[in-house]
Amino acid sequence: RGPTREELLEGLNEPQRAAVVHEGAPLLVVAGAGSGKTRVLTRRIAWLISQRKAHPGSILAITFTNKAAAEMKERVEDLVGKRARIMWVSTFHSACVRILRKEIDKFGYKSNFSIYDAADQKRLMTLVCRDLDLDPKRYQPNAVLHWVSNHKNELRDAEEATKDAQNKLEETYAAAYTLYQRRLREANALDFDDLIMMTVHLFQAFPEVRETYRRRFRHVLVDEYQDTNHAQYALIHQLCADPMEETGSLEDAAAERVEPAELMVVGDADQSIYAFRGANIRNILDFEQDFPNATSILLEQNYRSTQTILTAANSVIGHNKGRKPKRLWSDAGDGERIVGYVADDEHDEARFVSEEIDKLVDEGEVRAADVAVFYRTNAQSRVFEEVFIRTGQPYKVVGGVRFYERREIRDALAYLRMLVNPADQVSLRRILNTPKRGIGDRAVECVQALAERERLTFWEALRRAGDAPGLATRSLTNIRGFVALVEELQSMVEAGERADVILESVLARSGYLAELEASDDPQDETRIENLAELVAVAREFSDDPVAGPSADPADVDAGTVAPGLGDFLERVALVADTDQIPDAPDDEQSDGVVTLMTLHTAKGLEFPVVFLTGLEDGVFPHARSLGDQPELEEERRLAYVGVTRAQQRLYISRAVVRSAWGAPSHNPGSRFLDELPVDLVDWRRTEAAQTRWGRPDLASGSPARMGQPTSAGRRNFSSAALRADAAAKAKPARAIPSLEPGDRVLHDSFGMGTVVSVEGAADKAVASIDFGSEGVKRLLLRYAPVEKL
Ligand code: ATP
Ligand code: MG
Repeated sequence: RGPTREELLEGLNEPQRAAVVHEGAPLLVVAGAGSGKTRVLTRRIAWLISQRKAHPGSILAITFTNKAAAEMKERVEDLVGKRARIMWVSTFHSACVRILRKEIDKFGYKSNFSIYDAADQKRLMTLVCRDLDLDPKRYQPNAVLHWVSNHKNELRDAEEATKDAQNKLEETYAAAYTLYQRRLREANALDFDDLIMMTVHLFQAFPEVRETYRRRFRHVLVDEYQDTNHAQYALIHQLCADPMEETGSLEDAAAERVEPAELMVVGDADQSIYAFRGANIRNILDFEQDFPNATSILLEQNYRSTQTILTAANSVIGHNKGRKPKRLWSDAGDGERIVGYVADDEHDEARFVSEEIDKLVDEGEVRAADVAVFYRTNAQSRVFEEVFIRTGQPYKVVGGVRFYERREIRDALAYLRMLVNPADQVSLRRILNTPKRGIGDRAVECVQALAERERLTFWEALRRAGDAPGLATRSLTNIRGFVALVEELQSMVEAGERADVILESVLARSGYLAELEASDDPQDETRIENLAELVAVAREFSDDPVAGPSADPADVDAGTVAPGLGDFLERVALVADTDQIPDAPDDEQSDGVVTLMTLHTAKGLEFPVVFLTGLEDGVFPHARSLGDQPELEEERRLAYVGVTRAQQRLYISRAVVRSAWGAPSHNPGSRFLDELPVDLVDWRRTEAAQTRWGRPDLASGSPARMGQPTSAGRRNFSSAALRADAAAKAKPARAIPSLEPGDRVLHDSFGMGTVVSVEGAADKAVASIDFGSEGVKRLLLRYAPVEKL
């Protein structure tokens, strides 16, 4: 016994029902966030199976992530039972892999083809560029790959790219594309973009194969349609368009004409956030032209958020030009006002978030699992992770690898480890040819053989590489260059140089950073941001080892020995260890787990409480978008996505000072903040309070000296001096009050309080102050507007 009609339509409004029961012509559901698009799509699948007796195997549903696919499948199974299992609910990529595993032999590949990820692609493209003798300065593998990817997303193969090349540069890129494809084929491998392009080409080249799938998939449903690129669009078109309407496909259709599948796409042009991967907003805008006789259904009621949150979202997105205005309303009531907070710096922001979560959970309002913290770039998770580790708040980072597991962080740490301990062969091997410096596998084998014969460590053997038989002259030269680099860096370690200075030298002199900087792959940009974050960690540690991540003050002998690189690595290893605790399983225990994620990963999800952090011009909107209207509009859509994830409570925050590359930078508040209606936001703390306080004429007394030995004497590298300079400029010109437990203080917004304890010193001094009814606050004295009474 399946579900009844009533059961399937229960909890749906009129237009939603119409979409579920719609028959025939292609159907487009456009609607703002939280209006039930995904719910309608899911119900429709259940409806097709149980009411219209569609075979589950005849259904193809496309979601944007594998996780979304799993959830959708589960929900349909809940409605119609286990037989729904055989339907295809997957991402475009997974669907294409399934098709290609069966059909790719027609293109001369074997069905066990490998799928190359970004790292593999880059390794391959580097080889290709070398084979073509391309000047590595002019032709960066990542730049070529990006160009190739754009072509694939537009369904232009290497042959076409070669034909269309307009100038020398494009001819060279096209030659690289051609050779790259040949190498992929030799390796029986496809890259991510190939998966889609090959499937489309397969259907074009073999109409009978296409007909097989057209016959099979009678229902095609696509969620998040606004983020499809051209190749994905073409795939949908091949499966669902009426072949009679396409010139050239008449003869295919003649033999055995298969009725086109029923198509339903749902999306929201305001939530298109993947243009950098070729997503084309036109796909949704042009749907009615692309599929003549299409039906459109609008959904206007939002069921997710309070009216306050919705008004805020509508107000922000209203600043984008050339969009269709939407009427999106909610009858959930106004709900709470949005809470705003201007933090001193990113640590203060993280502390605010963490304290606020504690408060909500203590009040019994929400479970930690109801809370999500969003940020613009992966690197920003680090500060939140550290606060949560310190306070013992369980958390999970969704999408994206945890900070200390990221490749670039592991690479950087491997450099540092082998500098401290050259016998660490794993670290040494990891970075020996990273970035590529012409020390290939054969050379490594020769050195390894020498090490074994002479019973040397791998590092000792490298230093004596001249004795290794069979080593090519070029390899020997490259190895010598590497050994010289390492020895130079090791002398810094021996001289007791600061960890951040050594790290920056490693990144600069090894060429690691230059390689990322030259690339125009957005992923590499992220990597640079993550490395900047690691430098900031090292700098904090060198400045004050007590204040670092999860430090136990008892570990550090106050002021006796300066912390060295080894100490830093140990500290990081400990944080990284805690970090590797796996996500709590999805049961009752997960009630206590806060979710951290980037805005991009948040698409399609919802949470009762959302913290939208880092709202600063240059962070969000991202620095790269500031001078570019289309990019800025994409950032604004991202803000719209972020705000509309919140169901009941929304917090927005920014930091006045945020470190990047270990130097604090002052970012103005995000322009998106100005686009929010003023009366909707309850600013718990504004910048005005701080700047007023920070004025030099209000400063009194001499800077507090709290017994930390200054490390200035050891900073003999000009970059460090420059940064110190910049740091001094960025700090408010105000004396840091010297406080002791028991002191009475006056705070700008919390009023009178009593100091409970003081941790850290000088710049890093943090005082816990009891403000009576306002509670106990932890304040960074460098910025907190407190005065000793
Ligand atoms: P997004 O654009 O963010 O992907 P969406 O349009 O896909 O949002 P859904 O996620 O399907 O929206 O729905 C948002 C929330 O509203 C969900 O919790 C869903 O269960 C609920 N909802 C949708 N329609 C109704 C309805 N008619 N009655 C009650 N709740 C509903
Ligand atoms: Mg959705």
